[in-house]
Amino acid sequence: MPSVLWLHGGACGGNTMSFLNADEPNVVDLVTSFGLELLWHPSLALESGTHARKLLRACASGETPVDVLVFEGSVIEGPEGTGRYDMFADRPMKDWVIDLAGTARTVVAVGDCACWGGIAATAPNPTSSTGLQFHKRERGGFLGAEFRSRGGLPVVNIPGCPAHPDWISQILVALATGRAADIDLDELQRPRTFFTSFTHTGCTRTEFFEYKQSTTTFGEGTRTGCLFYELGCRGPMTHSPCNRILWNGQSSKTRAGVPCIGCTEPEFPFFDLEPGTVFQTRKAVGVIPREIPEGTRHLTYLAQSAIAKIAAPDWSKKDTFVV
Ligand code: SF4
Ligand code: SF4
Repeated sequence: MPSVLWLHGGACGGNTMSFLNADEPNVVDLVTSFGLELLWHPSLALESGTHARKLLRACASGETPVDVLVFEGSVIEGPEGTGRYDMFADRPMKDWVIDLAGTARTVVAVGDCACWGGIAATAPNPTSSTGLQFHKRERGGFLGAEFRSRGGLPVVNIPGCPAHPDWISQILVALATGRAADIDLDELQRPRTFFTSFTHTGCTRTEFFEYKQSTTTFGEGTRTGCLFYELGCRGPMTHSPCNRILWNGQSSKTRAGVPCIGCTEPEFPFFDLEPGTVFQTRKAVGVIPREIPEGTRHLTYLAQSAIAKIAAPDWSKKDTFVV
């Protein structure tokens, strides 16, 4: 029976909330159908105080084998490298992380903070937060670039703010059923099965994107103009399956009329861009989007944009698809 230990560093607990909403499979299925044994979880476990400390010590020493260590939240190294801003079971959490990552068969980082520091690690980063194996886009993080778990894998990163519940539960199923070797990771150690395509893929507004027709209003129906040109949608630059694996099985940010804010990328929340640019497209000379879809050349993009706008059919300029 594969055992899972879930710990929580510097973060809000949003990934736990997300995970509890998993659907395919859900959390009960993970236990009853896939045989996961949840050793301990900060919100779900019955053990606390002395009992929890004893259990954690047994895991850290290897006496209780840990197949999967799931970590949510940043690793806090402050103040001055002591980690004492985040004490847990009598020790800095970072010391538990060193011991447990050293004994676990696989280590999984869930959510941006665990993957690359996330919001917690954004300048001025008062807690000296970092991710398990990345600091923003730079490989290394807390465990170091060379870290490999007992099973031979680097940290498996499942980013997002929060990560979609089914991304988490499906990776846990793969690990529970002995398919760790089948988890193909990209250069940021994200499972390719989820993070190769863009949020843009499957968005209901792509015709409007193609014809450069914009909406300037939040929350309108699913096909009333693209959110890229005025409202700062990062869908064409963000690797995520949010329009393929829908949230709550039925929707996504862009379907609800809210721009993708790029939460699966290491630079999120992009506060290093000009202030006030969330939900607002950054423009050069007042009209041209500064960031263009990944893999596109600027000049080609501009030429194609001009032609597409001229060729735009009437229906794309009206709200004829309001639902
Ligand atoms: S709203 Fe965003 S994701 Fe959808 S088509 Fe426009 S740019 Fe792409
Ligand atoms: S649509 Fe974008 S911001 Fe929203 S969850 Fe998906 S990747 Fe994150």
